[in-house]
Amino acid sequence: MTESIGLDTAQDRNVARGARLLIVGPPGSGKGTQAVFVAERFGIPDVSTGDIFRHHITTETPLGLQVKAIVSAGDYVPDELTNAIVTERLSQPDARNGFLLDGYPRTLEQVGYLDGLLGERSQPLEAVIRLVAEQDEIVSRLAKRAHEQGRADDTEEAIRHRQQVYLRETAPLIEVYRERGLLIEVDGLGEVEEIADRVREALAARGIGELDELAAS
Ligand code: ADP
Repeated sequence: MTESIGLDTAQDRNVARGARLLIVGPPGSGKGTQAVFVAERFGIPDVSTGDIFRHHITTETPLGLQVKAIVSAGDYVPDELTNAIVTERLSQPDARNGFLLDGYPRTLEQVGYLDGLLGERSQPLEAVIRLVAEQDEIVSRLAKRAHEQGRADDTEEAIRHRQQVYLRETAPLIEVYRERGLLIEVDGLGEVEEIADRVREALAARGIGELDELAAS
């Protein structure tokens, strides 16, 4: 199949496919884990604003020092700073033809900014994956992650705060993308692999799949 399309590597095949996706879900929904799978499958970068901020914090860059207290408290970093890091990341060569945005946009203002950015590139989003998960399940997962990874924003107080912020700021975005017909809702409960299969099937049902699969069908 690779020969029939004349491309060499999985990376080339997937970049040629150029999926432009976004994944949303409440803190603890498993969004980050699924994002890694999806990005790998499509050969596109997983652009996680949370990871980018954590990297700046760990390496103590000026931006890291600026956002450290905000991130630890579970509040949102101001839109201008967040929009700027996303603009920079999406300008990198590996994001030229595709990307998975993970944890961005999170506010309506960020949605507007992203629309402008992608509009300039004539690269509209193809789908928005929403992971749906119950609050109780989420709290127990996050408590486990806090124990395993020692994330500073995984104290019970910060978790509850992040969930409230999510409901207030981010839940409205879901309606915006639903109205645009981009929303794919996936049950986020179950085994990691099982959820990954659901995401894959939901994308394939919209004609978004690996080039190999499309070529084979
Ligand atoms: P989670 O989904 O578990 O909250 P993330 O890694 O996505 O974790 O984000 C961690 C933190 O990074 C957020 O609580 C927030 O402080 C900051 N952050 C990440 N993305 C954004 C964003 N799009 N806008 C504002 N702040 C953000």
